[in-house]
Amino acid sequence: MDALTRLPGVARKTANVVLAHAFGINAGVTVDTHVKRITNHLGLTKHDAPVKIEQDLMKLLPQPDWENWSIRLVYHGRAVCDARNPACGRCQLLEWCPSGPKLIKAKSKSKSKSAKSSSA
Ligand code: SF4
Repeated sequence: MDALTRLPGVARKTANVVLAHAFGINAGVTVDTHVKRITNHLGLTKHDAPVKIEQDLMKLLPQPDWENWSIRLVYHGRAVCDARNPACGRCQLLEWCPSGPKLIKAKSKSKSKSAKSSSA
């Protein structure tokens, strides 16, 4: 990790990916934009800084699952928990996600507002 992060332009995110995929070493949790957003939605961290989020996740997750967690959240972020339009209604994590019900409620309010304004 230290050797990689000493390279120009390489921070922990890239170093974690390289270590996991090229060397099979789970040295940390890769925190990209999907991992950051979904981890916050799930209430697993209250932090915004990737380094702090990574520390929280490293305490919560078993080390062998660190890189898998990131990959799964990236795919989940692309397929379901989109940044602009999360599909909470069909999300398999809904029952454990404190943000899901709030986002569903907000979306339904916004739909009924636009329906009212278009019928007026
Ligand atoms: S319930 Fe909604 S906010 Fe929570 S993880 Fe699923 S899509 Fe994302």
